[in-house]
Amino acid sequence: MLKENLAKVEENIQAACDRAGRKREEVTLIAVSKTKPVEMLQEAYDLGVRVNGENKAQELASKYEVLPKDIHWHMIGHMQRNKVKYIIDKVDLIHSVDSVRLAETIDKEAEKHNVTANILIEVNVAKEESKFGLMPEEVPAFVEQISKFSHIRVKGLMTIAPFVENPEDNRPVFAHLRKLSVDIAKKNIDNITMSILSMGMTNDYQVAIEEGATMVRVGTGIFGARDYTHQV
Ligand SMILES: *Cc1c(COP(=O)(O)O)cnc(C)c1O
Repeated sequence: MLKENLAKVEENIQAACDRAGRKREEVTLIAVSKTKPVEMLQEAYDLGVRVNGENKAQELASKYEVLPKDIHWHMIGHMQRNKVKYIIDKVDLIHSVDSVRLAETIDKEAEKHNVTANILIEVNVAKEESKFGLMPEEVPAFVEQISKFSHIRVKGLMTIAPFVENPEDNRPVFAHLRKLSVDIAKKNIDNITMSILSMGMTNDYQVAIEEGATMVRVGTGIFGARDYTHQV
């Protein structure tokens, strides 16, 4: 089942790249493995998956300990500052930075561990009340503010688009994030590049790729539906 799912997602990514005239290498597939047992992650690894996304710090850290060390881990979920220390030396990229206080903690922990933290800024493009992330108009000033942290490199922007029946409805959301990243890139701020656009999930990653996503975060489409019944 995992094998078929992966093949299907891969085929869809290639088709979206073809439609948009983009190269497949421009898009990184992040296999979102949150709530899934390590046996399943190992199975995905054996099928060639090397990039995993998790949304809880402790879950990421404990999976990191037992799985092969050549997996690239991405923190994609909202973070509490007291959890940064669990993952700072384990992740390639933190997708979900949306406050100066969190950036400050990441900077301090990165310094302690002698690493440079790569981060994305989470943007609430659709301005949904239930979602984390900065309002689009807040992003330029925020980027300037966090460019001063010496152990952080801002690599781009991330958004979680609204849940919609028709993925086409999210096309303007993705286009908006892309435009914002282009506008910020033009400012040539120190320590800031806008090379990564993390957007698109199971329901809408093809549209996101057509609109310029360089990372798509696919969970259900690879690992199947999540079961939260045993969680508190
Ligand atoms: C869970 C999650 C995903 C994956 O969602 P699916 O709809 O299962 O693909 C992507 N991004 C974030 C931030 C998530 O928390």
